[in-house]
Amino acid sequence: MTPVTTEHPFPGLEALIPAHARLEHLAAGGTWTEGPVCQDDGSVLWSDIPGNRVLSWHPERGQAVFLHPAHFHNGHTRDASGALYACSHGERAVLKSTDQGQSWQAIATHHEGRRLNSPNDIIVAPDGAVWFTDPPYGLIQPHEGYGGEQEQPGCFMYRLDPSTGEVTAKITDMIRPNGLALSPDARTLYVTDTSRSHDPEGHHHIRAYPLAGDTVGAGRSFAVVDPGLPDGIRVDEYGNVWSSSGGGVQVYAPDGRRLGVVPVPEVIGNLTFSHTEAYLYIAATTSLYRVAVSVKGNAF
Ligand code: MG
Repeated sequence: MTPVTTEHPFPGLEALIPAHARLEHLAAGGTWTEGPVCQDDGSVLWSDIPGNRVLSWHPERGQAVFLHPAHFHNGHTRDASGALYACSHGERAVLKSTDQGQSWQAIATHHEGRRLNSPNDIIVAPDGAVWFTDPPYGLIQPHEGYGGEQEQPGCFMYRLDPSTGEVTAKITDMIRPNGLALSPDARTLYVTDTSRSHDPEGHHHIRAYPLAGDTVGAGRSFAVVDPGLPDGIRVDEYGNVWSSSGGGVQVYAPDGRRLGVVPVPEVIGNLTFSHTEAYLYIAATTSLYRVAVSVKGNAF
């Protein structure tokens, strides 16, 4: 009798990824990719930042250029109504689109009278508030923006009030705040610090901050991510944190315990769960990948 092989392709992730799942390579041609977001029609948009493009991929129509020039979009997200949001290095702004990305309006450009650095990544909370990070990567890396002087006294995590449009700095104790995500109960805000990108002694960790309405409490270290950096992150419906890294998608339980990894052959910039299908989409250096999952992504 031939023994039945029951080995799971991603040990430790048996409860989160079906046994038949394999990493699929969907699209190539980027230089440094970030910010994937899924649309209702099954397509995925993602940023090729140095290429100054937003790319698209659809299961039947394949790959296309969606926006060029894109003023160096980085992170994307969507809200409960399906509106799209983008972080624009080039415009030093947070943008919103209510027509599936055909046109974009700036909704945040300044904080306390000074221009933002280069908004990097973004989520919309259940109360409609827009949270985004503002490291200076679009200013200090000539291939990722139009340059310019940093006007803010630091690199902060901001909250944009949905009713007043006011932009308030809510986290000011990080060096290079980058990716962000909320727990399913919206009471824990996860934010990555990727200061190791320009400092060998710098941070490459995910911090967890208690959140009550618009009040952020004191942060704690949640997980140190290796190899590479925890650029973008997402949380699933059970509160597990799925992080970018240099070696694959690292998955952590809500208590910070590392559960396992989905190896990816390129350095990951960001990732997102589809809201229409059971897939995790991964933007990694030149390419877009996906892997089937057996959990839903948290909506924010
Ligand atoms: Mg990022």
